[in-house]
Amino acid sequence: RQVYVNGRYLPEGEATVSVFDRGFLFADAVYEVTAVLDGKLVDFAGHLARLRRSLKELGMALELSDEELLAIHRELVRLNGIDEGLIYLQITRGNAGDRDFLFPDPATPKTVVLFTQKKKLLDSPLAARGQRIVTVEDLRWRRCDIKTVQLLYPSMIKELAKKQGADDAWMVRDGLVTEGSSNNAYIVTAEGAIVTRDLSSDILHGITRKAVLDCAADLEMTVEERPFTVEEAKAAKEAFSTSASGFVNPVVEIDGATIGSGKPGPVAARLRQIYLEKSRAAAI
Ligand code: PMP
Repeated sequence: RQVYVNGRYLPEGEATVSVFDRGFLFADAVYEVTAVLDGKLVDFAGHLARLRRSLKELGMALELSDEELLAIHRELVRLNGIDEGLIYLQITRGNAGDRDFLFPDPATPKTVVLFTQKKKLLDSPLAARGQRIVTVEDLRWRRCDIKTVQLLYPSMIKELAKKQGADDAWMVRDGLVTEGSSNNAYIVTAEGAIVTRDLSSDILHGITRKAVLDCAADLEMTVEERPFTVEEAKAAKEAFSTSASGFVNPVVEIDGATIGSGKPGPVAARLRQIYLEKSRAAAI
């Protein structure tokens, strides 16, 4: 597999980053994951826009233009023959040659790394079965809207979910669901409204969230952007999550309580289908 590091395409075994890189020492880095379908990038404009926002919030100036980032993504997908899978981009504040809490000179070159992952995304056993979710306290920092590589807590709760026989964890702050370990969280009420937490620094502004809510609007489904409790989720008719790699993934159990019929629900199935049709047609 070829990877990209700072202007070069290299075999993965030959790619290196300094031990003083701030991404490694301080998690001083942002990232994006874009789905690849039919060899094309899904929702790429959204991922680029969010990347720019994350960089701006952290005061990191990137030397590469949007056109250059697109060209690098396309070239790596081509080099690795990715028809279906993921492409990962990480940008760190670089390497100032020593460990220092203070940011290095802004002119310090950023570290830019990309790699691809071949993966079956469309044909998903988890989407067919439906996810089992456990809920946990949201112990992350208060800037969850910035897509940083500080992913230790999400890793810990995913492990915890697995140990408890579940597939993923939803996080809860002040009794209200924020989001999943690596996805946005939704319920469908008895009245048929789709509910997902409103945008704030409490959650990542999912690119798939925006696209799926647009699909829901196209289908004239009612959408309520507001927080919901775990109790409300357990009593919901349906629940699901969204992410760039999982698309729309139904939830069939929360903390041992069966959701709806215990099978993936029709709203999630419909949104998955419409989202995939629309985003595949628009992929670049
Ligand atoms: N929330 C969190 C915490 C995430 O890590 C992700 C995945 N990056 C999402 C939501 C979903 O975002 P997207 O649809 O842009 O993949």
